[in-house]
Amino acid sequence: MTSHLDIPDASMAVDDASMAADDERAHEDAAWQDDVRAGVRHVRDLASLPLSPAERAAAQAAATRHKVRIPKAYLDLIDWSDPADPIRAQVIPSPEELAEQEGEFDDPIADHAFSPVPRLTHRHADRVLLFPTYQCAVYCRFCFRKESLTSIGRGYTREALEPAFAYIEAHPEIREVILTGGDPLSLPDKALAEIRARIEAIPHVRLLRIHTRVPVALPSRITAGLVQALQGRLMVTVVTHFNHAREITPAAEAACRTLRQGGFVLLNQSVLLKGVNDTVEVLEELCRELMYRLGVKPYYLHHGDLARGMAHRRTTIHQGQALASALRARLSGICNPVYVLDLPDGGGKVPLGPCHVEARDGETWRIRGQDGEVRAYTEVVGHP
Ligand code: SF4
Repeated sequence: MTSHLDIPDASMAVDDASMAADDERAHEDAAWQDDVRAGVRHVRDLASLPLSPAERAAAQAAATRHKVRIPKAYLDLIDWSDPADPIRAQVIPSPEELAEQEGEFDDPIADHAFSPVPRLTHRHADRVLLFPTYQCAVYCRFCFRKESLTSIGRGYTREALEPAFAYIEAHPEIREVILTGGDPLSLPDKALAEIRARIEAIPHVRLLRIHTRVPVALPSRITAGLVQALQGRLMVTVVTHFNHAREITPAAEAACRTLRQGGFVLLNQSVLLKGVNDTVEVLEELCRELMYRLGVKPYYLHHGDLARGMAHRRTTIHQGQALASALRARLSGICNPVYVLDLPDGGGKVPLGPCHVEARDGETWRIRGQDGEVRAYTEVVGHP
């Protein structure tokens, strides 16, 4: 016979479980907060990095133009013995950033020109960009929104977003809301849950997309609490931003696994950056590791935008097209990103990758195969 002492008290079990979950969350939150605290948070923290006096002075000068922030997890990936290290190139300010060129813009893809209310850009009918914060977990030197991050710079408040929510409510053609910034995943769980709940209360919205560099630069921030904050009615797609296979660490792998297990679709967009990932070998490894190791589909490879002070990191379009062709020949479709240019006047993203159509004569097309041979292809379609 079972004594009553052997029967667990159900309410006690629930309390114990929730206390254990709270402890686990507090532990997870402490881990990423430590990672932020131990990294570079201010210009003065650059003094603690193993830079030469000349490099340090140059970095400090450039950091006055565009903010600096680097979590410890990302700092630890830098090979300080290599001045051209591709991780270093993405986050340590360099004096070239001060050399702005004619033809560069504060707002390279015209976010502001298509902004009917603060913190929202509506460029394409069925989707909007929503900017819950203008702050990031890491500040990338090549960022095309760096002028907004500096000049607006503000974080999240519910009130600041209300006009944007009201705009989405009033536009039934909007099906996708893209949280971008700034980095939305730099916000606290409570703010994310609030934003998600407010958006999912708008019946015509079907998809929530989140553009983030947190799984790359601060993977410890991807916690059970964060995942739970984003779970609800909406399909959620997390678009990560890995630029180099060296960013794919066990911690990033765990972060992506947590997001996948949370039921989110994972895609990646990379920026083509001179001295970081502008060789076919580097891009091939990146794309394969994204898909095979992280389960993240390579989505876009962006041509470098015309952000100020970034000429030293931009390739030519011709170089980008050669890389896209080589990737197409080496990688399966699921590993292949689309090489795109975001047009400066707000014309949207256009593919720049290889076009295999050489000519057309009536219903016969001349198309170059992946082996380089041009073949005739005659269409056969039914006529009414
Ligand atoms: S995380 Fe994104 S928005 Fe923030 S600085 Fe980097 S590229 Fe720009």
